Amino acid sequence: MDKFSRIIDYIRISVTDRCNLRCRYCVNEAFPFMPHAEVLRYEEIIRFVRVCAELGVTKIRLTGGEPLVKLGIEFLVKEIHAIDGIEDISLTTNGVYLGKKVPQLKEAGLRRVNISLDTLQPERFAYITRVDAYKDVLDSIEKAKDMGLNPVKINTVIIKGFNDDEILDFARFAKAWDVEVRFIEFMPFGESTLWDSTKIIPSHEIEELIRKTYTLAPSLNSHKGPAKMFNMVGSLGRIGFISPVSTHICRECNRLRLTSNGMIRPCLFSDTEFDVKQLLRDNADDDALKEFISRCVREKPEKKHEIGLLKKCQKSLRNIGG
Ligand code: SAM
Repeated sequence: MDKFSRIIDYIRISVTDRCNLRCRYCVNEAFPFMPHAEVLRYEEIIRFVRVCAELGVTKIRLTGGEPLVKLGIEFLVKEIHAIDGIEDISLTTNGVYLGKKVPQLKEAGLRRVNISLDTLQPERFAYITRVDAYKDVLDSIEKAKDMGLNPVKINTVIIKGFNDDEILDFARFAKAWDVEVRFIEFMPFGESTLWDSTKIIPSHEIEELIRKTYTLAPSLNSHKGPAKMFNMVGSLGRIGFISPVSTHICRECNRLRLTSNGMIRPCLFSDTEFDVKQLLRDNADDDALKEFISRCVREKPEKKHEIGLLKKCQKSLRNIGG
């Protein structure tokens, strides 16, 4: 528990800063990777999760960069799944390689998946991501559903002038494909020069637009996260809104982040990080690790810092783990 009585039982882990896409709003074209030696190794991540589980963590999400570019990611899923106390392991992916890996990932213990998709237009996909892989992503969504990953959530960042003309298309997609589409506000991160506050579309505007065409009924969030969820009447599809910019979701925050270079980041919007890699590499014992992690939990700020002023965070989400 942190100083503000929030139970921190969820860790998001960026397993790599590398990615096979180059989304314009996330990174610039020149895309320097971290040297391998700086990135946490699987055995270090596994030990970290085991110690966190002993402290009460029950949920893990693997993200990146792109987790599926990491060789042997199913090994990591399997090892984490086997840790006592871990009840839920999930993955955030751009979906390009997912289709081919669903069977191995399922076998390793993965039950659900979030797939990022910001456009339903193949040419626009190629423009935004700088890679022509739209069809692979749609095939992956289909495969994930067919093979019983549940739920399949689609993460869509809406950016003014970029894809805001597709909001209703995504609502239709949720209905037609029986998936959860979660609209995410554009956030002030990282390397891309594309970010500026005029490109944010607050969730309530997206919701109002959708309500003109669809009947929405409030729904429970299946995994306690910050998304405000709605059923779409007449389908199993759902839509949701994640609004870290326009509303405070800090009171419900239940997570820490572990960056790809082994830093614990208590708050997504604060660049304050704590170096746990050094401790892991110095072979600190479990008690020392537990003390360190508990200290990071105590350092979790009550509210997002200057997000009201929209101060840009230094790192890109590919390092922090989006
Ligand atoms: N490669 C994986 C993927 O594409 O889902 C995981 C990493 S990616 C950084 C995670 C999520 O962060 C994606 O849904 C991406 O759209 C989102 N993201 C990146 N930069 C963002 C920004 N500035 N604002 C909002 N979301 C962002």
